[in-house]
Amino acid sequence: MPPPRPALAFAAASLLALTACGTGTEEAKGADGLTVVASAYPLQFLAERIGGDQVSVSNLTKAGGEPHDVELSPRSLVDLRQADLVIYQSDFQPAVDDAVADLDNAHDVVPAAHLELTATDDGHDHGGDASTGSAKAAPDPHFWLDPTKYADVADDVAEQFAQADPAHAAGYRTRAQELRGELDDLDREFTAGLAHCAQDELVTNHAAFGYLAAAYGLHQEAVTGLSPESEASPQDLADAIAHLREHGITTVYAETLLPTNVVDTIARDSGADVLVLDPVEGVTEESSGRDYLEIMRANLTTLERGQQCR
Ligand SMILES: [Zn+2]
Repeated sequence: MPPPRPALAFAAASLLALTACGTGTEEAKGADGLTVVASAYPLQFLAERIGGDQVSVSNLTKAGGEPHDVELSPRSLVDLRQADLVIYQSDFQPAVDDAVADLDNAHDVVPAAHLELTATDDGHDHGGDASTGSAKAAPDPHFWLDPTKYADVADDVAEQFAQADPAHAAGYRTRAQELRGELDDLDREFTAGLAHCAQDELVTNHAAFGYLAAAYGLHQEAVTGLSPESEASPQDLADAIAHLREHGITTVYAETLLPTNVVDTIARDSGADVLVLDPVEGVTEESSGRDYLEIMRANLTTLERGQQCR
């Protein structure tokens, strides 16, 4: 047998290279479904529930990370470009806003979430970040803690999936409808559970629970503001303690992903108890449940106890 001609050897090498390349792409893209990047856990959960087997979902915020101040790795930036669809919310994670600015595969869920609360709507007026003076009040991003708002965003995500992958549109819409049913159940449980509480003042660490409070007749007073990175000043602590005394509040809430020192200080100085609420910004071993629905039900049980509901 004669040795292979140079042209044939070249063709074989090219074929090998192509195959290797194709395999890599296949792994990144999944079989024939959509690859979706979600910017934080609440959108990851929606994407997974609505996408079912048709979608492979990754999360820019790693498990146990706090999403507000996420930093994106070079790998994440590549994933964002290669994804069929990026689901994010503007004005929540500055690093994500920057990263999606020049992408045309990114969808902002904020219009569907109807963010009508701002930092100053929680009753205390710290004027936002003191260093920026008269900065306009930032919208409260934590819409998912109101299950009815979360269901509206689920519908929006389903429509995005349907447009990106029309062959599976019916499945996306059906699963969004099923999820809405579960979120309606959750909403009913919260309404009933928090209907008769001795205390309607809710003192939290960062101001994540404004939409939940608004939906169920509570009034949130947060120690640190909309983002957990905003440091609590001695004045913030003094204000919180005065607020506890004024309203006879006996429970303050720490959070799963945050250090408890701020809340512990307030509790020590005021004699209040500390319970832990979870703003569902990430799921870890320490979380009170395995997913959004379980964690929200644990939050309800905690609130019924802390707000003395019957
Ligand atoms: Zn938050």
